[in-house]
Amino acid sequence: MAEKKEKEEYTIEDLPGVGEATAEKLQEAGFDNIMTLAVASPKELSDVTGIGEGAAAKIIAAARKYADVGNFETGEEILQRRKEIRKLSTGSKALDELLGGGLETQALSEFYGEFGSGKTQIMHQLAVFATLPEEKGGFNCDVLILDTENTFRPERIVQMATFRNADPDEVLKRIHVARAYNSHHQILLAEKASEETKEYQVRLLIVDSLTSHFRSEYMGRGSLAERQQLLNRHMHDLLKFSTLNNAVVAVTNQVSARPDIFFGDPTSPIGGNIVGHTATFRVYLRKSKAGKRIARLMDSPHLPEGEAVIQLSEDGITDVQG
Ligand code: ADP
Ligand code: MG
Repeated sequence: MAEKKEKEEYTIEDLPGVGEATAEKLQEAGFDNIMTLAVASPKELSDVTGIGEGAAAKIIAAARKYADVGNFETGEEILQRRKEIRKLSTGSKALDELLGGGLETQALSEFYGEFGSGKTQIMHQLAVFATLPEEKGGFNCDVLILDTENTFRPERIVQMATFRNADPDEVLKRIHVARAYNSHHQILLAEKASEETKEYQVRLLIVDSLTSHFRSEYMGRGSLAERQQLLNRHMHDLLKFSTLNNAVVAVTNQVSARPDIFFGDPTSPIGGNIVGHTATFRVYLRKSKAGKRIARLMDSPHLPEGEAVIQLSEDGITDVQG
């Protein structure tokens, strides 16, 4: 084991007791980095890999030594960081007000709703707004989009940017899109997002949709725990990105089409508590008449519940006229 490695550079194969075969079994079960092992229980590891609980306990103990578990911070440091929080406008005054002034940096915001409820439109609009100057409610920054459903449309960006009197070509140059082909690819791209910030300043990271791959790849009851574990790790990567870069992270989520034991009632977002506990803002979108959508703020830690009506049109997201 090379002594000079940074803690985060260790892989599970660096751990004593983890040979190639065990590493493969661990990886297959979703324990593919030191941190997931550090927080695992011996029984859980033993169940998925077939190694004895004693050996599993040794691996976990080693993982804990090498894991980058983070440090304590003083209240003063946290206060200082919170002073840097900025707010991104959605382009609708009513929705911004509902959100206490816009979407906060250093936090994860989730928009969920059924198909066609406007989630992807809002993501396009946020991307445009983030590139706008601060006096227009933007961050004057670049944007990263993880597109999992192939629904990014530059033409929509052009329409929305034009309506806001921004140069569409300049806006498009600052929006960087990556297609994610499956959940593992999505996780890797989220990790790679930090590298992009060395090239340009990113204060908005979008994942549209957060859950579609996870949902289609992990269907049965048996794979639910694995899905939740991967989703949990992904969410924490996203949250870390938001704090390190003082960025907004905006994700979309479907609601389950059928009430069942895995997905909850028909208006529940996928991923259940894992997503809910990590997202600071959760906005539920419902269809209404004539391109209108009702946005409802769900269980925010510091804002009252409430609703705002927004208008979807060629121009993007606006307030309802009249
Ligand atoms: P979701 O991502 O929640 O499935 P979308 O964000 O794709 O839904 O929303 C689709 C809706 O957005 C359409 O039903 C339509 O109302 C509206 N929309 C999309 N493109 C346009 C456009 N060019 N002009 C007007 N409305 C549009
Ligand atoms: Mg969509």
